[in-house]
Amino acid sequence: MDLTDWLKNEALELGWDYCGAADIRPYHDYLASLAGNFIYQYPMAISLIFRLSDGAVDSILGQEQDKQMSFNNYCYHAVDHMQNINAVKLTRMIEKKGFRAYPIPASYGVYPEKLAGLVSHKLVARAAGLGWVGKSGLFLTSQDGPRVRLTTILTNAGLAAGQPVSNKCGSCTVCIDDCPAGAIGEWDHDTNLPRIDVYKCYKYQEERKRKWNIKIDRCICGLCQAICPRGQRLG
Ligand code: SF4
Ligand code: SF4
Repeated sequence: MDLTDWLKNEALELGWDYCGAADIRPYHDYLASLAGNFIYQYPMAISLIFRLSDGAVDSILGQEQDKQMSFNNYCYHAVDHMQNINAVKLTRMIEKKGFRAYPIPASYGVYPEKLAGLVSHKLVARAAGLGWVGKSGLFLTSQDGPRVRLTTILTNAGLAAGQPVSNKCGSCTVCIDDCPAGAIGEWDHDTNLPRIDVYKCYKYQEERKRKWNIKIDRCICGLCQAICPRGQRLG
């Protein structure tokens, strides 16, 4: 079995639903401008994607406080904790094969002003050909839409890279129309990027935390994830 197939098998065994390799050399300068020159040690990145529970995602359609809190704990603590532990295990397995590897935790931002982590999981997943970044700014797979959580391992292992796929949102505007914070704009055709005002989203979250008098770190409304027709399995 070749290295890429071995890696995908191990990732699926560890519970991920998707695994792909990305050649990140074309993005090195951009990534280095954010995170520094360490990135040049890693020509490849492995994208690992976990499919969220429909029960948990659908529970937030009503935007009730208790379901919201439970959903945020599920995504940002339970799922990401599990992904992080398994990324540590997979990193060790790659190192034992003689390669360098560096797991990027699933949801711990290190640049608060950009609300971003060390390396963009979405950039890597898109470069690996596992899906696209939608108008909502979320990462979507063809099968599961945005009902996914992502993580990444940087490596110098010689893996077979995927090819990016194009955006398949088409004429859909559901997330733009339904975002309660008005944080999602029309697709920017000049930059070929979504138009998201992350601070409007953040402000809406903070206002609601104050209104509900709750202390958990994240209580994102998540509607853009739940209402996207892609990946929905409601009867
Ligand atoms: S999480 Fe809620 S407020 Fe933020 S962009 Fe999505 S729908 Fe809008
Ligand atoms: S709701 Fe529609 S436009 Fe928004 S991300 Fe999903 S498919 Fe794309």
